[in-house]
Amino acid sequence: MTKAIIDKSKKYLWLPFTQMKDYDHDPLIIESGNGVKVKDIFGKEYYDGFSSVWLNVHGHRKKELDEAIKNQLEKIAHSTLLGMTNVPATELAEKLIEISPENLTRVFYSDSGATAMEIALKMAFQYWINIGRPEKQKFIAMQNGYHGDTIGAVSVGSIELFHQVYGPLMFDSYKSSIPYVYRSESGDPNQCRDECLYELEQLLIEKHEEIAALSIESMIQGAAGMIVMPEGFLSGVRELCTKYDVLLIVDEVATGFGRTGKMFACEHEHVQPDLMAVGKGITGGYLPIAATFTTEKIYEAFYDDYDQMKTFFHGHSYTGNQLGCAVALENLRLLKTENIVDEVAKKAKVLERLLDTLYTLPHVGDIRQLGFMCGVELVASKETKEPFPNEKRVGYRVSLKMRELGMLTRPLGNTIVFMPPLASTVEELEEMIAIMKKAIHEVTSVAV
Ligand SMILES: *Cc1c(COP(=O)(O)O)cnc(C)c1O
Repeated sequence: MTKAIIDKSKKYLWLPFTQMKDYDHDPLIIESGNGVKVKDIFGKEYYDGFSSVWLNVHGHRKKELDEAIKNQLEKIAHSTLLGMTNVPATELAEKLIEISPENLTRVFYSDSGATAMEIALKMAFQYWINIGRPEKQKFIAMQNGYHGDTIGAVSVGSIELFHQVYGPLMFDSYKSSIPYVYRSESGDPNQCRDECLYELEQLLIEKHEEIAALSIESMIQGAAGMIVMPEGFLSGVRELCTKYDVLLIVDEVATGFGRTGKMFACEHEHVQPDLMAVGKGITGGYLPIAATFTTEKIYEAFYDDYDQMKTFFHGHSYTGNQLGCAVALENLRLLKTENIVDEVAKKAKVLERLLDTLYTLPHVGDIRQLGFMCGVELVASKETKEPFPNEKRVGYRVSLKMRELGMLTRPLGNTIVFMPPLASTVEELEEMIAIMKKAIHEVTSVAV
């Protein structure tokens, strides 16, 4: 059975963000999971060190989440949200609004982080048309931003490795610098922040009349390599957007639902976005639900007689799916009853100390962390911060070594991602960090 299914996987599948030649060399097929571990078809267990790509909250096979889906299944699996609604989608909307930043009062569902961002972009764009200011058509995006892989989301993204090929397909957006303290000239977080805010303000002074919205990840750029924004940056961006009458779209797809030790990362700086995209952790990592939140002001700009043509013409077949909304509701209940968000904030301090021990390794250049979102940047030289050459694939090789040692994660270039399920215990975190340390040591001691 095992060999047959591996052969099938090589014969029929094409995997996302994967060079299939790499997969064919090191295939992996997961069969089951329990708690913070998953198991492959050979029975080998791995810590889910990246929460199955940044999703998982309570671990796998969480009884209450499993039950929520089974119970919903006894009623109905799916009916549409076009022109009507269903019970769990409606209940969930109320709960989402309860926990979201105060000014956000409306929820629009979709099925992935990228679609939640597409929706935010289109809403922002049409908002200005609907209120009679159609000249505001452009977007500002942050350097190294990542918002998903559909064309609109890619157009406000700027990770060269993923986005360069598709350049001719994208709409233009202005790019503004993001403070990357470790690689900044001064290395000073405040200076780095102020320089970036200054640059953004210059752009806004010049262009604000044509700008519909600015999109930014919340507090930390994930795919760029877990780059934590210095204190005061996100709130500074909020102030500038308000001052120059530009909508602020905050992407909480990776950071939402407790991941950073707050329910939403923008709470770290009391930022209230005009639009907010969520996904990933919303269902505890169980089913594809995403949502775009907005304000009553934006909602009202679309609310009119049909012939005024202000309707938001956008939707997806599985929008508001009952099974997904039912499990999301149970996820929110568990976040509260199990006090997950405060626990993450507490355990993050322990995690910080564990991560600190990695600095004793000769090639660990920078460790960045916000809650349970961590990146360990490996460098050829600590003194000069010189990166490892890409062709050495140090990050990739470290992740393969971790796999061998019993933990899964995916690197971002030469930054090792550590994003364990939020329910991970201190003991489990210790074991995971020990695996990471061993893998980094083994790979980098021969890579140089
Ligand atoms: C993962 C991610 C997305 C895209 O979400 P998908 O569900 O993969 O489409 C968007 N923004 C951020 C910040 C992400 O981390």
